[in-house]
Amino acid sequence: MDFKLIADYHTHTKYSDGKGSIEDSVKRAVELGLKMIGISDHGFNHVKSGIKRSQVQEMREEVERLKKVYPQIEIKLGIEANLVNLDGEIDLTEEDIKNFDYIIFGIHYFTFGKGVKGSRRFNLKNAISKSKKYIEKVTDSYIKAIEKYPVSVVVHPNYVVPVNVKRLAEAAAKKDVYIELNGKRTDFSEQQVKELLDSNVKLIIGSDAHSPERIAECENPKQFIFKNNIPLSRIVNIKVEN
Ligand SMILES: [Zn+2]
Ligand SMILES: [Zn+2]
Repeated sequence: MDFKLIADYHTHTKYSDGKGSIEDSVKRAVELGLKMIGISDHGFNHVKSGIKRSQVQEMREEVERLKKVYPQIEIKLGIEANLVNLDGEIDLTEEDIKNFDYIIFGIHYFTFGKGVKGSRRFNLKNAISKSKKYIEKVTDSYIKAIEKYPVSVVVHPNYVVPVNVKRLAEAAAKKDVYIELNGKRTDFSEQQVKELLDSNVKLIIGSDAHSPERIAECENPKQFIFKNNIPLSRIVNIKVEN
């Protein structure tokens, strides 16, 4: 048994740290026969690669133009927002949220948060602290964000800081938020896989492609899924092939 992606909502373009244009990504997705392609460049507070608020309008216009050129595929403009502090805040205002079709979010190295000191402390703690107490605090922060914002996906949990997967999965399931099996870093222990499956959370594969050629690439999560006997029915964006 095998499967392939039918929708890839986690892709980057040169607006953040990806290589191709939005159209390059759409073309590739059409070639692959995807039903949906989502553009999700890094959020504003990502120090190195965040898009600028002034670029959003241009991105939106491009997406709307491409919808007419490629009617065979659904094209959405999303954003990969950053969790920026332990209060569960992400780098989107209410105004920003209206400009995107969907939001995915996670923690990244080096993000701007509240003030210089606050940002420095958060980034530093994330990089060095692996204490049980800190893991629970970060998990609380993810959960607060899930409850506060209209987010669709938690991307790459356990990246940068480990999380309490059981609590995160239960909170995500309650709000119908998906947990990502990331194309580059699918990182869950055996126990955590059990916790994911014991909750009602739905899983979604995101390629996290940073170039058009890697769109819908899912070899890593695929191996992980088969190795851990994860039922394919738990994954929302694949087509099973015999
Ligand atoms: Zn990311
Ligand atoms: Zn990404």
